[in-house]
Amino acid sequence: MIRYALACDNGHSFDSWFANSSAFDKQAKRGLVTCPVCNSAKVEKAIMAPRLHRTDVEPPRPIVAPPPPAAPVTPAAPAASPKSPVAIMSPQERELRTKLKELRDHVTKNANYVGPRFPEEARKIHYGETEHRSIYGEASAEEAKALHDEGIEFHPLPVLPDDQN
Ligand SMILES: [Zn+2]
Repeated sequence: MIRYALACDNGHSFDSWFANSSAFDKQAKRGLVTCPVCNSAKVEKAIMAPRLHRTDVEPPRPIVAPPPPAAPVTPAAPAASPKSPVAIMSPQERELRTKLKELRDHVTKNANYVGPRFPEEARKIHYGETEHRSIYGEASAEEAKALHDEGIEFHPLPVLPDDQN
């Protein structure tokens, strides 16, 4: 069976089934194919508009998300180099600094360097276990606090920048 879209000479369009394509031709020639509306026998196969995809209509474009705005380029922070305290000193301060350096030099020249044994030696002096003398050395923050808590008087040696090398 084949289905034809037909149209009569009055413009009526209708569908009809035939055994095959030649069956339509035979029946049409014999006037057996008639319009169901006006009964006209002048029936032809309708020009079938091929259902082709129209090419003049652009398919919807895929929506492309715009690229995200470029993140502002933050300049890489320069590697933090350790900073040293610095100062511009007035003449009076330079004089004080000189005195501090003199004090330090005096202490280190005349005192007995005990190094990391400073807390121990300081206690000996404080508690009279050894002669009272000037010593200098190193103490950690915890040790210094302990000495301070025990009432042992001591002083941090002034550290001058140009002594630190
Ligand atoms: Zn008709």
